Amino acid sequence: MSLLEVEHLSVAYGAIAAVRDVSLTVEEGELVALIGANGAGKTTTLACLSGVIKPRGGRASFDGRDLFRMRPPLVVGAGLVQVPEGREVFARMTVSENLALGSWHRRDRGAVRHETAELLDRFPILGRRQGQPAGLLSGGEQQILAIARGLLAAPRLMMLDEPSLGLAPQLVDEVFSIVASLQAAGRTILLVEQNALRALRAADRAYVLAEGVTTLSGSGRELLADPGVRTAYLGL
Ligand code: ATP
Repeated sequence: MSLLEVEHLSVAYGAIAAVRDVSLTVEEGELVALIGANGAGKTTTLACLSGVIKPRGGRASFDGRDLFRMRPPLVVGAGLVQVPEGREVFARMTVSENLALGSWHRRDRGAVRHETAELLDRFPILGRRQGQPAGLLSGGEQQILAIARGLLAAPRLMMLDEPSLGLAPQLVDEVFSIVASLQAAGRTILLVEQNALRALRAADRAYVLAEGVTTLSGSGRELLADPGVRTAYLGL
């Protein structure tokens, strides 16, 4: 059994079928990418797995538990943690307050304090600007804050939603190097990205999502070499 299993997921907004047939698995310790164009249904898929919106059909389990029977706080408590785009940090709250929100459900407060100190050390920009509103950080810094907040939720699987969106090339490099370091540390990651090239280079395995359907899957290397993927998603 895989840590995350999604079978034939469908989601609709009224008459609009945003997700029509998504199936994917993520094993413990894997970095799996979900790539697709604007509007393909990537964000809707994540929102459904997090319990924020209801599916129309299909099944999803996390660590053997039926995700669609769990309310969002239980999903987070089980270790399935969504990291939204950096622009979705709470702009008026300080960096510290944003970080504290990541661990609201944890009772091991000593470990939380220790991990928070480690993260402030690891990402000095957050350490230096702890007391400032998160809205004053740059786009890349907000993305780092969103990832750090996700780490404080004690994730067993992190779902990263478009972490490189809208970032300057140098910051895209920085975000992908953080993703690589999480992968090297044995973290399990579902990476949702429009930047197909970078995502496929980083991924152990990947899925292509087109118009709400997972149409293709394989190792990152296989999909990088796939002629259809090269034309449609890599601009080659
Ligand atoms: P993007 O990268 O542009 O966010 P995406 O792959 O994440 O794209 P979604 O945001 O999941 O795609 O959108 C999938 C489809 O559902 C699109 O056609 C979109 O217009 C539609 N959609 C998304 N949210 C809503 C909503 N709240 N109400 C109606 N339609 C929606």
